[in-house]
Amino acid sequence: MTEGITPEFQMDAGHTLWQACVEDLARELPEQQFNTWIKPLTAQASPDQQTVTLFVANRFKLDWIRAQYAGRLTALLEKIQGHPVKLELAITPREALARSAKASTPSSLEMPVEAAVVADDSASSGFRSRLNSSLNFDNLVEGTANRMARAAAMHVSGSPGQLYNPLFIYGGVGLGKTHLMHAIGNKLLAERPDAKVLYIHAEQFVSDVVKAYQRKTFDEFKQHYHSLDLLLIDDVQFFANKDRTQEEFFNAFEALLAKKSHIVMTSDTYPKGLADIHERLVSRFDSGLTVAMEPPELEMRVAILINKAISEGSEMPEEVAFFVAKNVRSNVRELEGALRKILAYSRINQKDNTLQLARDALRDLLSIQNRQISVENIQKTVADYYKIKVADMYSKKRPASIARPRQIAMYLAKEMTQKSLPEIGELFGGRDHTTVLHAVRKIGAERQQMTELNQQLHVLEQTLKG
Ligand code: ADP
Ligand code: MG
Repeated sequence: MTEGITPEFQMDAGHTLWQACVEDLARELPEQQFNTWIKPLTAQASPDQQTVTLFVANRFKLDWIRAQYAGRLTALLEKIQGHPVKLELAITPREALARSAKASTPSSLEMPVEAAVVADDSASSGFRSRLNSSLNFDNLVEGTANRMARAAAMHVSGSPGQLYNPLFIYGGVGLGKTHLMHAIGNKLLAERPDAKVLYIHAEQFVSDVVKAYQRKTFDEFKQHYHSLDLLLIDDVQFFANKDRTQEEFFNAFEALLAKKSHIVMTSDTYPKGLADIHERLVSRFDSGLTVAMEPPELEMRVAILINKAISEGSEMPEEVAFFVAKNVRSNVRELEGALRKILAYSRINQKDNTLQLARDALRDLLSIQNRQISVENIQKTVADYYKIKVADMYSKKRPASIARPRQIAMYLAKEMTQKSLPEIGELFGGRDHTTVLHAVRKIGAERQQMTELNQQLHVLEQTLKG
């Protein structure tokens, strides 16, 4: 560092330089582009002002700014400065992001939940909660699919240790289970900053157990886990076959419940559906409240898309949102992927977000869906799942153990392919179209009522989509 120049001064000079550059750009660029890409940037100049580093929130934005704006930015900086300037781009350091995340709740769209910013709240409570502060109740869209789970979660975060303990939330991938967990933790910490909250993925718990083994630190391990006020443990199906982990978890579980700390778990299936987990744990899991997260219905998918677009600083016309929501049905993560594609496509081509643009942007995705799913494929997948023979899909046999999977396959054929009722009937051993219609209606109605069936269908849909 050059003597006589204080860091404040460097920051200040860098700041002024950047400020001038930003003012120029504000005049040059359309307002939305400016607000989305340039305004959030922060800059730092080297002492000699030869290098300017711009800090960007995430990798996606970094690549975009490098591709779209780096040339123009360098030219502007050089013009203002009167000498060559080297422009560097860097991801904003985590702590700074976490701090600003708390203030402004940025979206987490461009990062998978697990990789997103992790708030380092160790300063306030002496505890690392591992919570992602951008996942909260405000940005978790409510619908029939998650109403129960959301209400229970809200209750727990408001008065932990009382009702619904443990809270067991289950559902397929990408339905918002992890999001809901973080929301519980964040809300509790907002209200009681000194609460000891820990979010942990079951796999991480397993690896903590292994470490405690290796280092012979089970006492510390116990102390740590048994002292929590709220333990959020994600994807407990990963405990399958891990005996020692299950034992430690059982101990932690008992200790926490005894001192009225709250435990929230998620899993891909309901407790009794868990494979290779000790019976005594399974029955504990089921001893509080067990709620399902269901795949979101059409209107909810539309609402999620519109919300996410807004939080990205973009717009998604309702017509486009409906188109996407109709075509991307399985889960929210896929919806987000589709949205990301559309927004990127619209930026790259500098086109408005219209129906045609969405069609073009999602062409690959939609054609893959259409290509992969055939009635034969559905018959085979459903037969495998319910352990019947594929031939039974066309046979005239009628016992319920066969008839029901057959109806399910018919329902899926109608939902997931473009085939007509008579065509489907033909493919199911020459059955009448009214038989198919009956199956479609019956399974469709039951799906609304029976959580278990809905889960099975969800798994089948996911499998078929590959
Ligand atoms: P799961 O843990 O069930 O696999 P996640 O919680 O990781 O699902 O959710 C996948 C993505 O979808 C996340 O980015 C999450 O924020 C988002 N998401 C899920 N449900 C909703 C919802 N109801 N509203 C808004 N975003 C949602
Ligand atoms: Mg998850």
